[in-house]
Amino acid sequence: MHEVTLEHLKRDGRIVVVGASLAGLRAAETIRDKGFTGSLTMIGDEPYEPYDRPPLSKGVLLGKSTAERTALPRRRAIDAEWRLGVPAVGLDMAARRVKLADGDEVPYDRLLIATGVRARPWPNAAESELDGVFVLRTRDDGAALARRLDARPRRVLVIGAGFTGSEIASACRERGLEVTVAERGDAPLVGALGGVIGAVSAELQREHGVDLRTGVMVTQLEGDSTGRVRAAHFSDDTTLDCDVVVVSLGAQRNTEWLRGSGLGAGPRGIACDAGCRAFDIRGIVTDDIYVAGDVARSPHPLFGYQFLSLEHWGNAVSQAETAAHNMLSVSSDRRPHIWVPAFWSSQFGVNIKSVGVPSMGSEIMITQGSRAERRFTGVYGYQGRVIGAVTFDNGRWLPFYQQQIESTAPFPVPFPTVDRRSDGNRPVPADFPDPSVPTHGPTITLSGYSPADRRMTFTPAGH
Ligand SMILES: Cc1cc2nc3c(=O)[nH]c(=O)nc-3n(C[C@H](O)[C@H](O)[C@H](O)COP(=O)(O)OP(=O)(O)OC[C@H]3O[C@@H](n4cnc5c(N)ncnc54)[C@H](O)[C@@H]3O)c2cc1C
Repeated sequence: MHEVTLEHLKRDGRIVVVGASLAGLRAAETIRDKGFTGSLTMIGDEPYEPYDRPPLSKGVLLGKSTAERTALPRRRAIDAEWRLGVPAVGLDMAARRVKLADGDEVPYDRLLIATGVRARPWPNAAESELDGVFVLRTRDDGAALARRLDARPRRVLVIGAGFTGSEIASACRERGLEVTVAERGDAPLVGALGGVIGAVSAELQREHGVDLRTGVMVTQLEGDSTGRVRAAHFSDDTTLDCDVVVVSLGAQRNTEWLRGSGLGAGPRGIACDAGCRAFDIRGIVTDDIYVAGDVARSPHPLFGYQFLSLEHWGNAVSQAETAAHNMLSVSSDRRPHIWVPAFWSSQFGVNIKSVGVPSMGSEIMITQGSRAERRFTGVYGYQGRVIGAVTFDNGRWLPFYQQQIESTAPFPVPFPTVDRRSDGNRPVPADFPDPSVPTHGPTITLSGYSPADRRMTFTPAGH
């Protein structure tokens, strides 16, 4: 963009942010930090100003905090016009306008899309409406579930043992509630961390009194005559009496509102370049529409230029800051978003952290500590290089392995960084499930093709 036009944009332009949550707020703050004095509009379908989601499955369910007390701290004033409680329902790229459900249209010079994801609902709509059936994504979900747990249900059933499902089960046990976890895969966390770590996680859950059932699916939820859930039926022909069910089957990207807009948006998210600029459906990068957070999928040079979709708090912040910087910069000043994925979770008294893309790993090696002690570091290898790492109560090692990932260090990890214990001597298969079999899903999704794969043939159209 020409300098004069950029100066004009910064002084008098119109920036619209759709999705008033973590990524939207941090982008807005960066936009003002960069000296933007024009009009800034924040559009959000939830009635609340931006709040934080991680506490919803942790402190809020434990009763240590409330859903109302999760407002995100503000880094600075953003002087925005807030349009809360009204969803965006369409985008006119040619006219540069966002259409709202109340019929309004909001014009923009630069648009940031940060509409995130929503909880995947229970597939049977009538069963999902039974009293006592919950999902957990929003502040309202967190408040409603916490209230129900306060009423001390006899048994909670959590369907899906990903990070959120496992954290919910952990909170239930900490409250002394009976909880069953049903997981279609072989172990909890198996989609994100593989079977070796999944086995540790399964032991941890059972030691803490969780009735963990793996390799099974819930086939039906049954209600009583008053419409309250009372039982669940399983694929192994068993039945469980339960009065609360939490459906924790992963997430769906909020992109439906862009259908027909011409933007490259679909069930996998919105494709963007490393500079956060959205692609249109023809694969041409736009110059006025940016994407950040859970809804984005962007290529990463460290991971074979695969498109990564990340449901990670830190990614939403970093990508939002980069998008905001780039939308107000000349092309030579733009930055790539090459954040190394990092994630944390606390459950059953253990602090789990990961860095890189564990789910890309074919092998894992326990490099520090031991699984039996539940304090260890596992390093994932892919085609002879370090691609990810996970720690259980051993987070101090993560910066070291992040640096190994960034420098594409060789795998197996050579001594002397590795403990000389039996766990650490050799790599073993990381044991990820077949990605075509749906489980709760990893929090990182790869949606490109490795150059080594030969699954597609490209036939150019004749001109
Ligand atoms: C229970 C829970 C626990 C978590 N724990 C962790 C954790 O321990 N560690 C970690 O790294 N991450 C965790 N996360 C993930 C983290 O919260 C997300 O990565 C982060 O919220 C992403 O921010 P975002 O702004 O991209 O999207 P979101 O927070 O999903 O926000 C998107 C917003 O856009 C709104 N929206 C959607 N469609 C429209 C529309 N058409 N018009 C207007 N508004 C729209 C949505 O309602 C929402 O308010 C957790 C998430 C949950 C739900």
